[in-house]
Amino acid sequence: MKLTAEQQALVGEELSRYLESTDSRKMVADLVDAAREASALPVYADMGGALLITTEGDVLIVSTNQVWDRNAKWETEADPQWRLLARIAASERYPQLSFLRPTRPVSAVDCEACNGTGSVEFSGCAARCGGCWSTGWIEVPEANPPPTGSAGG
Ligand SMILES: [Zn+2]
Repeated sequence: MKLTAEQQALVGEELSRYLESTDSRKMVADLVDAAREASALPVYADMGGALLITTEGDVLIVSTNQVWDRNAKWETEADPQWRLLARIAASERYPQLSFLRPTRPVSAVDCEACNGTGSVEFSGCAARCGGCWSTGWIEVPEANPPPTGSAGG
């Protein structure tokens, strides 16, 4: 996704804050070196890896199959669902970055698994809905997309 200069500055601000923070509760302190090397803000982590958003708005993944230090390798996350999740997680974790939250397309429908709320109750705790990646909606591809351009002429 393309970020405006102002939005890039906001991501940069959060990144500096993250790198300078000594708060042990901050997300994945182990990622500080990788975040500094990649100039990317950690926004989400699970058992498989961590997602970071660069100041340009690109989504990177640091996989957990390695030690998270300054030599940790990262790659651009290509999966649109993980990229979407990174934006959602970023907007939740850093209110200043709420512009990253994806906007609901007109064609989207409410997620049936969570009734459009984005979260589900699991053993009495609210959990991120896996059906819609906590957006509360699902994008439905058009059944018969109109042909684009003219065939042949
Ligand atoms: Zn849902």
